[in-house]
Amino acid sequence: MLRHYLEIKAQHPDALLLYRMGDFYELFFEDARTAAPLLEITLTARQKGTANEAPMCGIPHHALESYVGKLLRAGLKVAICDQMEDPAAAKGLVRREVTRVMTPGTVSEPVLLDGNEDNLLASLGWQDGAGAGAFLDVSTASFFVRRWRGPEEAIEDLELLRPREVLFAEGTLPEAVAAWLQRQGVCETQLAPEQTPRGARAEELLARQLGLATLRGLGLEAGEPAVAAAAAALLYAQDTQKSGLSHLRTLAVRDSSDSLVLDATTLANLEVLRSLREGGRRGTLLSIVDRTLTPAGGRMLRDWLRRPLRDPQAIAERHDAVAELLEQAARRERLRQTLSGVGDPERLASRAVLGTLGPREAGALRESLRRAPEALAETAGCAAGRLQELAASDPLAGLLATLEATLVEAPPHALRDGGVIAEGLDPELDAARSLAQDSKRHILALEARERQRTGIGSLKVRYNKVFGYYVEVTKANQHLVPDDYVRKQTLVNAERYVTPEIKELEEAILAAEERQLALEQAHYERLLAAVAERAPELRRLGEALAELDVLATFAEVAARQRWCRPTVLPAGAGVRIEEGRHPVVEALSRDPFVPNDAELDPGERQVVVLTGPNMGGKSTYLRQVALIVLLAQAGSFVPAATARVGAVDRIFTRVGASDDLARGESTFMVEMIETARILHHATAESLVVLDEVGRGTATFDGLSLAWAIVEHLHERCGAMTLFATHYHELTELAQMLPRVVNRTMAVKEWEEKILFLRRVVPGSADKSYGLQVARLAGLPQEVVTRAGEVLRNLEAQEYDPAGRPRLARGDAAPPAGHSQLRLFSAGEEAVARRLRDADLDRLTPLEALNLLQQLKDELGSDQKGMSSSSAPPPPVDASGS
Ligand code: ATP
Repeated sequence: MLRHYLEIKAQHPDALLLYRMGDFYELFFEDARTAAPLLEITLTARQKGTANEAPMCGIPHHALESYVGKLLRAGLKVAICDQMEDPAAAKGLVRREVTRVMTPGTVSEPVLLDGNEDNLLASLGWQDGAGAGAFLDVSTASFFVRRWRGPEEAIEDLELLRPREVLFAEGTLPEAVAAWLQRQGVCETQLAPEQTPRGARAEELLARQLGLATLRGLGLEAGEPAVAAAAAALLYAQDTQKSGLSHLRTLAVRDSSDSLVLDATTLANLEVLRSLREGGRRGTLLSIVDRTLTPAGGRMLRDWLRRPLRDPQAIAERHDAVAELLEQAARRERLRQTLSGVGDPERLASRAVLGTLGPREAGALRESLRRAPEALAETAGCAAGRLQELAASDPLAGLLATLEATLVEAPPHALRDGGVIAEGLDPELDAARSLAQDSKRHILALEARERQRTGIGSLKVRYNKVFGYYVEVTKANQHLVPDDYVRKQTLVNAERYVTPEIKELEEAILAAEERQLALEQAHYERLLAAVAERAPELRRLGEALAELDVLATFAEVAARQRWCRPTVLPAGAGVRIEEGRHPVVEALSRDPFVPNDAELDPGERQVVVLTGPNMGGKSTYLRQVALIVLLAQAGSFVPAATARVGAVDRIFTRVGASDDLARGESTFMVEMIETARILHHATAESLVVLDEVGRGTATFDGLSLAWAIVEHLHERCGAMTLFATHYHELTELAQMLPRVVNRTMAVKEWEEKILFLRRVVPGSADKSYGLQVARLAGLPQEVVTRAGEVLRNLEAQEYDPAGRPRLARGDAAPPAGHSQLRLFSAGEEAVARRLRDADLDRLTPLEALNLLQQLKDELGSDQKGMSSSSAPPPPVDASGS
């Protein structure tokens, strides 16, 4: 057995091998050592204490999924080796085979997936510096490629799409990408040459899968890396699933030009899907807008927020649909009610193709199909073009009829025990089933008869696996047992017997049960095949229902939050928002939110420099403008009284200061890297949001950089820009550059206190009120008072008569001989003076050395006077080195 184990293990070196033995899956050797702590199970050993000791651990077979889930989440792969024959019937070693390789990027089990998240497998291909990635979700059959001009774009995409597993041919990965993968701890799979078809072979493989003659129609050329990457992804998924993946029939080329590009930094800064602090959902845009009722709707909503549209026409189609569903509240309510039971037909269809769809899931699919016509009929009554298109989806009535006819109303979880197939589908099955049930009734009758015949009231007819049916009589009643009973087993208190009649009945029952199970199995397989055959259509229907879910969600949110319909115009039309609100701050804050207008246009108000006190609301305002643009282009209504947006191609943000120490980059380095990216990539159609750029370094350095960055954005790139800063000097830019305007957050001062009005008004702030905010934050009073003194000195830019700054002066007159700012002790001061006075340039090297030695000696004796423990200075090396 162990030899066989090792052979199989050698075929799957990079996966943990789960080897079925009886009721357990066992792991051995290194695999056991790796898995035991992750699974929190005990590590034991076979042949303990001998030279052949083999570490091992095991998990019960029925709990396989939950244990495998833990391993996959840890980024590991798992090969499942099953018993292929009944151990009882096997002669010699039980035949075993690997039936599936489960990897983080290829799972489709509902318990291992997050309903609202994609589960992407990424396959990367490179050629002459250019690259491509193919992204495949086996659980939904979503499949698309992205092209990259270099590693930087690849990393940007990977950060955004967060694949669970990344495939690549050995030795092909650019160094930067490899380093990124390593840092992120993504599960990596290196493919051998035979797993990475190229050129014509790759094209042929894909074309056959997609049912196409050529890939040209998709916009793909045979030789390009995208085709090789997609072919490798397909082969790998087929291999791990041991399935042809017949439902995988579409491959999309996702081009950045048709969507509003949001890089991972921007998504993070705007807290679209994950909060900056905890990384969770609370406080995110998603938490406000996600009122979807289906898992697929949840996934689509995320996708829409990550990839809003750019084409005003397509955006308006979504807005039309939302507007109509907003207006027709009763219809929306009914539609949402219907959608709430739709479940996840996309993923269920995939499982049918993979042969892993259980009876209960098939029941869920039937429920999806029962509800689909209702949802589509509700939509058919609408006027909006997009809703009409969705309403025209095929509800797959034929497949529903098959499911209805085949399944019982509440199918059990597993097929194993039968009871899955409905009555009336197959007369033979019905007959077998009623015979099995009847026979049970016969057994009960027989029990009653035997009790009467023997006069033993406690006589029981029972069943166990070894003897089948038998009669049990207690010891006390032995004398009443008739002659035709054949003794089978003696227990402490009872004897067990069989009779010819019992044996006859038993055979009939077992035969009927076996027949029933075999028939149920056959019907169920036929059902799965029927579902699998319609998987591509099911996927389309699933997508249509998901889209309805998202559109109805946008309408629901608009109704609840009082959002308005934005107008999206062609690029270049600027942004004009009246009474805009921040969707998240508004929802979470206890105080009433103060709405603000925003106006940006490439011609006159291209750059807004926003100054104002700490806590004034600058960051909130910046983000709210960006979020309103994002929502508008995603097809949603927006938190504002009115909004008009000229479609933007990208939104860039650089918000706050954050370290990425794991990357070995300091706060300021990260800030500059991100700013550099913005300046390189922003176009006249972009929206750029910069919050306190230049803050992470010395004031003058930061100010100079900030100044030059604004100039560059104004003169060269032309992007609409919102720039919040505490460098009030930047407001002078408005006098020099025609398209720069100043805005400030209004405040009222009152008895040394400030009142934040949270209103954006024309003009600039001349101070930041940092001290007042520090006091509000609870800094000790003496620190705030002292800071006030220092600030006054700084603002007066005063120096004392000796030319020293008065920065350190207190309000009280300094005591005579006050030497707070003296860096040197008295002896050091004298040495420093002589060093300054000596004309070092005139001295020969030896003279200079002698002087230094002399000064050093003096310094040594001076320091010895101050501290007895200091060591004498080391002698100067006469060689002059
Ligand atoms: P700093 O310069 O210190 O970073 P800031 O000017 O960027 O401050 P924000 O962080 O945007 O200030 O806002 C501070 C707080 O004020 C927010 O957490 C929010 O609760 C509240 N706030 C901001 N804008 C508004 C508004 N328009 N209406 C009501 N409350 C607001």
